Parts: sequence; C-alpha cells; structure tokens
Amino acid sequence: MNVWKIVGGVFGGALILAIGLLIGHFGISKTSEAPSWVKDLSKDVDEAFIQEFMKEVSSDNIREHLRKLSMSPHMATTKGDEDLVKMILNQWKDPKFGLDDAKEERYDVYLSFPKADQPNNVRVVTSGGEQKFKSRLTEESLTADQSDPDVVKPYAAYAPSGVPKGKLVYANQGKMSDFETLNKTIDLRGTIAIVRYGGAGRSAKAINAAKFGVIGLIVYTDPKDINDGYASKSQTYPNSWYMPPSGVERGSYVEDFGDLLTPYYPAKNFSYRINENDIKGRPPIPTQPIGFEDAEELICQLNGPEADNSWQGGLSCKYNIGPGFRPDGKFNDSSDVQVNVYNYAEVKSSANVMGIIRGSVEPDRYIMYGNHRDSWVHGAIDPSSGTAVMLEITRVLGTKVKAGKWRPRRTIIFGSWGAEEFGLIGSTEFSEDYYSKLRDRTAVYINVDISVFANATLRAQGTPPVQNVIFTAAKQVKTPVSASLSVYDNWIRYFNRTSTIYNGLIPQLGTLGAGSDYAPFLHYLGISCMDLAYTYDRSKTSARIYPAYHTAFDTFDYTDKHIDPGFTSHQAVARTAGNVLLRLADSLILPLGPRDYLETLENYYKTAETQFSAQLTNRGISLVPLKNAIARYQKFSDELDKTISELKDAKETPLRVRMINDQLMLLERAFINHFAFPDKLYYSHVIWASRSSSIVTFPGIADAYAMAISTGLQKDWDQVHHHITVAATAVDNAASTLETAASV
Ligand SMILES: [Zn+2]
Repeated sequence: MNVWKIVGGVFGGALILAIGLLIGHFGISKTSEAPSWVKDLSKDVDEAFIQEFMKEVSSDNIREHLRKLSMSPHMATTKGDEDLVKMILNQWKDPKFGLDDAKEERYDVYLSFPKADQPNNVRVVTSGGEQKFKSRLTEESLTADQSDPDVVKPYAAYAPSGVPKGKLVYANQGKMSDFETLNKTIDLRGTIAIVRYGGAGRSAKAINAAKFGVIGLIVYTDPKDINDGYASKSQTYPNSWYMPPSGVERGSYVEDFGDLLTPYYPAKNFSYRINENDIKGRPPIPTQPIGFEDAEELICQLNGPEADNSWQGGLSCKYNIGPGFRPDGKFNDSSDVQVNVYNYAEVKSSANVMGIIRGSVEPDRYIMYGNHRDSWVHGAIDPSSGTAVMLEITRVLGTKVKAGKWRPRRTIIFGSWGAEEFGLIGSTEFSEDYYSKLRDRTAVYINVDISVFANATLRAQGTPPVQNVIFTAAKQVKTPVSASLSVYDNWIRYFNRTSTIYNGLIPQLGTLGAGSDYAPFLHYLGISCMDLAYTYDRSKTSARIYPAYHTAFDTFDYTDKHIDPGFTSHQAVARTAGNVLLRLADSLILPLGPRDYLETLENYYKTAETQFSAQLTNRGISLVPLKNAIARYQKFSDELDKTISELKDAKETPLRVRMINDQLMLLERAFINHFAFPDKLYYSHVIWASRSSSIVTFPGIADAYAMAISTGLQKDWDQVHHHITVAATAVDNAASTLETAASV
C-alpha cells in the first residue's frame, strides 16, 4: 500500500479548500482588515510577555535543575556527561514544556586524561632513592561528593607524560619575566619549578619554563591569591567558600581552542587530522597541579635566597627561590623533586545538544544562546550554574510555545556544548561545521557559562553593539536584595564609566577574550556576542576566581550554602539573560547599537596616536587613513541611528525593516579579516583579536609596533604600515555596511 497516495488525496482536498478560503479572504480583504501575516510582519517586542516571562522564572526550579546537573561528576565524554546529554534532550523534547525540536550532534575530539590506575603525583626523593614526601593523589573527602569514584584525579590536561627529577626552584607565577629573573642567579637547566596560578596562562607557564631548561613543572593555588589569605581547615570549605588545603585546580594546558587535530574543520570521523606532534601551544614538559597543603611542604623547605616581596604568598613561611632544599629542614639538601605524570590522549565522541524554537516571521535569522555542559568534577558552578539558568529559560519559553501562547519573530537556537573545559571544543566544531549558515544568518550569540561567581552584582562582557539591550533588560530586573533596586542601578555602582555617546555615567561593559564558548562565534565568525554573570564585591574579596573553581569542592552543597543560598542571584541572571534574549528575538528592529562602537574606535585611535605617532612620522607611516575611516564610521552610524529612530513611528515596508536588520546583523562581520593574523588560529576580528602588547589599541597595530621597536628592522616597520591598512579597511568596511544600502 502506498501511504503517500492516501496522504496526497487528503492534502489535495485540503489544498482546494484552502485556495477557496484564500480567494474568499482576499475577496473581502479590500473592505475589511488585512490578512493576519501583515500584522505579524510588523509586530514588535511584547513588553507584557517579557514581564510574564520574568515572573515565571523560578529560583526553586533553578535550584532543582542545578541539583540534578551536579549530582555526579560529568567530565567531557564520561558516563556522567552522557547522562546529562539524555537529561537535556528529554527536557527539550518534552511535549508540555519542550522546544520545537532538539537533537545531539557529535564530533570525534582529541582529549587528554590521567591514568586511573597510575595516579600522577609529586615526590621528594633522596640521592639514595628514599622517598621523603609524596603529594596527595586525590582531594580530601570533606563531604560525600569527593569520594565519588568518578572524581577525576587532579591533572594538567594535554601535559606530556614523563617522570623528570631535579632540584626544586620557586618561580612565582611562571611568567617569562619570572624565569628571566631567576635565570640571573640560578642555572635553571635540569630543575623542577613550582609556580602559583595567576599572572600567566596555564600552558604559558610550562612553555616559559621549558625555554630556560626546566624539565618538570608543579602548579599550585596560593591561599593569598584564592582565599584572601585564609588557609586553615576551619576557615575553608565546608566552613566557608574558601578552597580547602587539599583543593586542586584542574584545567586544560593548551593555548589554542577547538579540536587540536582538526583546526578550521569539524572533527568528523572522516576529517583530515594533523599529526599529534604538530600540535602547538602544549606544555613541552611534564606538568602537575597540586593543593597548597602539599605546596607548603615543598616551598617552605626551599634553600637559597629569599624571594622578592612581590613573590611571597600566603603559606606559613618565607618563600626562598632554591635551588634545592635547606640542609636544616625536613628533607636532605641533596634531595630531588620528581614529577610523575602519566597522562594519555584519546579521540572520543563528544556531543553538543542543540534545541530550537522556530521563528514565525524570520525563521532564517538566528539568536543563539549557549553554555557548555562538561565540567572537571561535579561542576556545580562551572558550568552547571549557567546550564541551570538555560534550562529554566527554556522551560518557561517551551511551555509558552507548546501552549500556543507565543512564538518568537526570529529563530532561537540553544546549545549545550561539549568538551569546553578541554578548549572550547564543542562550540568551535559547531562553528566550523555550520560556518556559512551561521555567518549569514546569526544576529547575536548570548553566552551564560558560570552564571553566579558571587552574589554582589551583574557583570556583562560583550561587543559594543549589545550593551544597550543589556541596559534595557537590567533596568527591568530587580536585585535579589531589594525590590526597589534594579540590577542596572546596582551594577552601575560596581562597574561604571563616563560615556560620550550616552552623555554620562553608564555601567562598564567588559571586553571578551577567549575564556568561554563565545570565542569561536566572535573571533572566527564575527557575530556580536555577550557573556552574562553575577559576580563579586571586590571590596570584600580579592579571590582570583571563586575558590572551588575546577576542584572536587565545586558542588551543589557549596553553591547552596556559600555562593547563592536561595538561588536569587541565579534568578536575576536568568531574568536578565531571558529579557535580553526576548528583545533580540522579538523586536521589529534588532536592538543593536552600531554607534556604540564609536567610543572603542576613537579610544583605540587616540591611544595609537599618542603612543605611536612620533615613531611613525619618522618613518613616513601615516595614521590618517585610519582616522578618516573612523570619521566615515561616525557619519554612517549617526545616519543609521537617525533612520531607525524615525522608523519607529512610521509604517515601514517589511523589506526595508529586513534591510536595516541585515545592516545591524552584519556590522560585526565587517570587522572580520581571515588574512589579518596568519599566526593566530581563529582570531580574525580586527578589533578584538588577542594582543601581546599591553597598549590597548587595534591589536594588529599594537603587536606589530612592539615588534618593530624591538628589532628596528624595516620589514617589521612595513608590518606596522600593513596593520594600519588592515584596521582602516575593516573600519571603512564597517562604515559601508551601515551606509544606505543603495550607495556604492
Ligand atoms: Zn565554564
């Protein structure tokens, strides 16, 4: 039996009926109201619906989502991670409160793990081979969570295996300047260095060390940097939010992001893979993180001169730099330190879970919202605090969609990314897999990773066009502490700046680096991005990050008792992020502010002029083309701004609305130049690419200038000229994107 014939028969009859209805409808439409799609086309954001959404966001639900998400350790690709893939899919496919559709998408990605049966450790051994000290293999069990057999033992992902042995030195934060200082008085060749977290990236510490002949690296978290100095058991978790003495920060020790074997291409089973030995930015030497309890055993026994004041930390002794141990201490002065690392690499299948709510009017325009799912251990704060918020937003919106009460104008795509902790892998592979479609159709990407670091204030990072929509949303959300204080008014107390565009004080929007899954969307695809969270009162703590970060103590209990009791900060973030999402998805004109880029461009220009113009003039290199491009940007962003403000009151044709929206969507794309930074993987955004120079201006110009000054070579001054052209062309292109479309 051919089912399709029967279906065809039914459809055929329905089609004739439909045509009849349409003829009837248009027959009378001249004298009555226009067809319903005309109304839909001009429908703007519904403020009452936003209020309804915010009211329904429940702190109890977020707490319950978080409890489930953080029940078991869920490192990328483990059983715990796969269980959450199913849990999120189930929620997003639920007939009552699910989304229109949800699916998992998998990539075969290159990961690094410690051997379960041969734990990494650090030892002190005498010249006779006697073991005097061995570091803990696991963190202390302070609640039931730490004794879960699936807790991964502390390790430095992507550090090579090996068992190097040598005299110990203390190298502060492992910056280049730290090793240069040490190298003046100590021959570092063949030594083992111990460094504290902070100051330099994880992999940079190991790469810097190896340059000086160091053969093994130990990394620890100093209580001065993470615990405001508190180090005793009674002062730390479970008695407070501070890191217990046995806590160890795990992490990825690689510089680049994305799957390491398939740069620029999705890691599918058929994809070409580079040779493992060609991976760059990995530690060249065995590296192992330890807790400060163990670090104290080593550092407080060091011989040699006292370290500089700025190198001293919070352990209970004066830090000496070594090399080797004191003759009058616990260890024999001929003792060595041995770093035993047994990491191995494996290609494993990692899932992204994608959920979708189809847009009614512009289904081919996307607003994306994402967070990673994988953690190092239980990951209650990182990343489950963000995922709990995302699940609550999708629950409320899914319920409205299923009840037929709401459908966004544009399509909303939710992403639960896999393997972020290893280097933003799931989101990067997705960006590569759907490169063209995302580049052509995505207006904004919203990232909410850790949603609550602490419960003092909102912290927002993003590119300038998104700041105003965050302001609008934050003004409508109440702070957890007071119903008369908005998130906006609270935020401006903590982070603010004076703006010429806004004629006064506004909250300070932070800039985006590459710390979470927004990185491929911003740097590679050129999509306007933001990252939202609640964060610290810096007058109360100087903790480098929340103290349980990447340890076995980042648990539900930790969050529930010490980070956000009552989950009201989570709720405030969910309301703010959801409010932003709805404005972006439903507004007739995308609420993006192209004029807001002008302050960044002008500040960059002023800095370049003050810092570089004397040397540039000597060499006949001019900044004027860049100045002209910025002036042109100002002209057309002002004009577009005026057009949009006049448009609000008029009845516009849908095509004109679409045209303006495309200009707004494509503005960020105009700053992308895939040929500008050939040495920097993925970084293509001329304004936000990574920068080595400390001078805050166009990154290409700043780095080229620093190089030219240090070498004095003509070819390097030519590169400065080249990067001024790159920047001027990008700004000029952005201006042209904003210019009236009929102009050439
Ligand atoms: Zn995270």
